[in-house]
Amino acid sequence: MPDQISTRRKVLYYGGGLLMVAGIGTFIFHSAWGALGGFENPEFNERLPAVMFTSMAIAAVGGLLNKIGARGLAGSGLILNPDRARKDLKPYSKMAGGMLEDALENRDLSQSVSPGETIKIRCRPCGWLNEEDSNFCHECGKPI
Ligand SMILES: [Zn+2]
Repeated sequence: MPDQISTRRKVLYYGGGLLMVAGIGTFIFHSAWGALGGFENPEFNERLPAVMFTSMAIAAVGGLLNKIGARGLAGSGLILNPDRARKDLKPYSKMAGGMLEDALENRDLSQSVSPGETIKIRCRPCGWLNEEDSNFCHECGKPI
């Protein structure tokens, strides 16, 4: 179904989420390792900046992929394409629309006549379209 989030985007979403967890996990793991004695090891201290940088970079990339997966390339603002963004975000707007519909149903407003739609009455003698509540024709003055 075109309105559903594609498998590729789902893979991006979950894969990105995993990367994010892995990156943050590595960061926390090395912080704990350092606190538990790793900082006393010169070798550990030497590679620590690289490890921390890499784990944060992995987490950042993972977070980005996660966002793209959830909202699509255009939907997350990576591609400036409002038309595609609308399509990418359709599963969400559809959901929001559904929620709005539910709310309207609860308040019993969905059945009411949509505003902006006026009803006109045609004058029989001249054919002029008059406002719904007028008693005389606006054009020829004959009673309606
Ligand atoms: Zn008339």
